[in-house]
Amino acid sequence: MSALATASAPAPVEAPQARARIFSGIQPSGIVHLGNDLGAVRNYVRLQSEYEAIYCIVDYHALTSTHDADLLRERTREMAASLLALGLDPERCTLFVQSHRPEHTELAWLLATVTPVSWLERTPTYKEKREQQPNDINHGLLTYPVLQAADIVIYKATLVPVGKDQAAHLELSREIVRSFNNRYGDTFPQPQAVYTEAPVVLGTDGVRKMSKSLGNTIDILGPPELIRKQVTSMVTDTKRILRTDPGRPEVCNVCRLHRFFGPDFEEIWEGERTARTGCVDTKKLLADRIVAHYSPARERFLELIANPSLVERILESGADRLRPKAEATMAEVRAKMGLRSGSWTQAACSL
Ligand code: ADP
Repeated sequence: MSALATASAPAPVEAPQARARIFSGIQPSGIVHLGNDLGAVRNYVRLQSEYEAIYCIVDYHALTSTHDADLLRERTREMAASLLALGLDPERCTLFVQSHRPEHTELAWLLATVTPVSWLERTPTYKEKREQQPNDINHGLLTYPVLQAADIVIYKATLVPVGKDQAAHLELSREIVRSFNNRYGDTFPQPQAVYTEAPVVLGTDGVRKMSKSLGNTIDILGPPELIRKQVTSMVTDTKRILRTDPGRPEVCNVCRLHRFFGPDFEEIWEGERTARTGCVDTKKLLADRIVAHYSPARERFLELIANPSLVERILESGADRLRPKAEATMAEVRAKMGLRSGSWTQAACSL
């Protein structure tokens, strides 16, 4: 340090910079699959040290497709155990269950009043769900994106790590925010999506995105034999009929996934291109690597599943930690919309 610096008045202590807040939700619809991890959860883990990270298991959303109470409870615990096993650290991020902060549904109602029905009817996922569950086209399916917007903006999060399938929903959240802000004054920031290097992971059919509801998943925390069976069933390059035919790794889902499980994927691609290796060899190698990669996480997952009270404590404490933020936003919003006296605004803005 220079003499001049030591002689001068102590440097003013800089106020700690608030870290940007991120939020993401995941449905408790079974154990996590490879698409969830490569498309979103890897980013959850990576971003938890850089940002103020809030991650939510969205059980209210799951109710639009699951009506079995015990199953929902079990899946919620399983999803929490999966996320913790994959690297979410409750010391560095907040993990909670959506229904433990019921303010989300109140805000969803308020946001619904500034959301035209036509925006919701044109949502691609709504159209897909109508086809997937024609006997249960419930109101929640239509308003799903409004609740999703509420989940994000109740914490005024600015960044949302998700897979590309969520792009339309996120755009809708931004539209809802603009609609609210135009009517009631600047209240919410417009959230932005953050993608991984694998924003869309295709399923074992090699055509549609990997998704629990499509039954084309690789269940990364499942038993090794299940993973091997799922990888073996994967559709590869459909034009490669004979073992001696040269392959096209750029269109082969198995080859594309090798990119994420080892530094030698170019060599693997070359083997396919020159027919030095066959699809069966490439699949076997991929299965071995996926099993090995997720084996420590699977062990942690099994430990956590055997200790439900630990998982429940983590989730409860996450929801408690968020209470002041959720309540502050609700107080501000109620005041702006004329639901409470204006004096609530001041308390809200101080948080
Ligand atoms: P699912 O579609 O299997 O029901 P969710 O809707 O709960 O999974 O998705 C949880 C997160 O995982 C979201 O951010 C979503 O965008 C991401 N995700 C899901 N499937 C994929 C996929 N096949 N590729 C990339 N990201 C995905």
